[in-house]
Amino acid sequence: MTQTQPSLTVPAGVPERIRHYINGSFVDSVGGQTFDVLEPTTNTVYVQAAAGQQADIDAAVAAAREAFENGPWPRMKNRERARVLNKIADAVEAQDKALAAMESFDTGLPITQAQGQARRAAENFRFFADLIVAGSDDAYKVPGMQMNYVNSSPVGVAGLITPWNTPFMLESWKLAPALASGCTVVLKPAEFTPLSASLWASIFEEAGLPAGVFNMVNGIGEEAGDALVKHEDVNLISFTGETTTGQLIFGNASPTLKGLSMELGGKSPAIVFADADLEAALDSTLFGVFSLNGERCTASSRILVERSVYDDFVAAYAERARNIKVGPPSDPATEVGALVHPEHYERVLGYVEAGKAEARLVAGGERPEGLPEGNYLSPTVFVDVPPSAKIFQEEIFGPVVAITPFDDEEHAVELANDVKYGLAAYIWTNDLRRAHTVADRVQAGMVWINSHNVRDLRSPFGGIKASGLGNEGGYRSLSFYTEQKAVHITLGDVHTARFGAEGYNDDDPFFAAKNLQA
Ligand code: NAD
Repeated sequence: MTQTQPSLTVPAGVPERIRHYINGSFVDSVGGQTFDVLEPTTNTVYVQAAAGQQADIDAAVAAAREAFENGPWPRMKNRERARVLNKIADAVEAQDKALAAMESFDTGLPITQAQGQARRAAENFRFFADLIVAGSDDAYKVPGMQMNYVNSSPVGVAGLITPWNTPFMLESWKLAPALASGCTVVLKPAEFTPLSASLWASIFEEAGLPAGVFNMVNGIGEEAGDALVKHEDVNLISFTGETTTGQLIFGNASPTLKGLSMELGGKSPAIVFADADLEAALDSTLFGVFSLNGERCTASSRILVERSVYDDFVAAYAERARNIKVGPPSDPATEVGALVHPEHYERVLGYVEAGKAEARLVAGGERPEGLPEGNYLSPTVFVDVPPSAKIFQEEIFGPVVAITPFDDEEHAVELANDVKYGLAAYIWTNDLRRAHTVADRVQAGMVWINSHNVRDLRSPFGGIKASGLGNEGGYRSLSFYTEQKAVHITLGDVHTARFGAEGYNDDDPFFAAKNLQA
């Protein structure tokens, strides 16, 4: 189902030029370089953005370093930092409508799905404000002998590199814990979607974040991103993006031994057993792969269905997919909008062509009628997809799903784990034992039973295998941006081997036991 294409309206608040933000000021690139930013429903260039180079990264890192070494932010009490974070949350929330309009325009996300992103971003700031106020450091005691406690301090300058899907919200995932910990930051937003990131600077200024704590350099990954990763004065990199980019960054960060957190790609299975609530599984797996245009790291892009219900499930799935409303992102009736960029669109179309040779196409696979330009693709459903197929193995990151039958629990687990990724998994069954045993056996960092991706902010977020390194989420995010120093205090007598002293017996069992205890 499609709608007609309206003429392009640039939303309010789009700046004349998207610039960097360094040490409290908006600036152009030192060398004046810019790049084109496209709008995905017509692929017209609607704005130029500053293209950061080494000199721009150097300036941003120097500002962040100065704010870290000599500014108030890392030295503030947690409660004082939390007050600023809560003001940031208020300011973010107040921008909800403007943000949704910008995000939808820049990314091609349906407007109804872009709404609420500001509230979720604000929630991240409130959550980490609460966490640092309520948190405590560890202390360990050996009564009468020794006490150990841990002092936490911010690591330093954090480099934050983010992707183009739900960009503002994903930036908040990194900004909130990094700032809460007392780090200073340099953000490098994705070059396909730099628009909404330009809102951060005024939000932070309004909330009272000191100059130099937040810096942003726009630009191409291989230029600005690369310079940030290799910079010797950046202590850590939090990266979200493709697995291949993560591998490159891993190598490039090694000479300067940076801390790394990596949230990478996925090819997550939804396993539908015959005993499940099949109507709920249908709703959830359609939403799981076609919401956010399918440009979602945790998309349930492989659906594994028990053979006894396979034909009925596939028929119902294809019918619903054909009925999904594809249209302009600005239309509130739109369920799938335009893919982010023509380069990405071409890549997704390449997978669709590969899929036609590998499996049976039962819905979509083509440009929808009535939308002659822009990066539109009808929701695409391939069935009977063999595990050897490219469309089963590789992340497509678009509105394309691969459905495969399985015979029993063993077979389902085997298929689920037969890819290099391990981000999320979804299990649909009403058998309690099976739900838990399959959750245990499936190789994924996150598992949802009888649900799509709904997450408590306290729980870990991250993938295993090729889907990532380390976990973010809750206190784990704070740990990444924090250094821990263990302080050991002696309360009792400490046995010291008296090297060079006469008459000392190091085998004395009394002293040996005391040493072990402490
Ligand atoms: P990408 O890897 O192409 O780009 C991500 C960021 O890295 C961008 O800012 C880009 O400019 C930068 N970059 C590119 N090359 C670089 C280099 N050599 N050095 C430093 N920085 C570089 O990813 P994308 O296409 O923007 O995003 C889509 C990918 O992100 C998908 O694979 C998706 O699964 C993944 N993703 C993962 C999660 C998660 O939490 N696991 C969340 C969202 C997206």
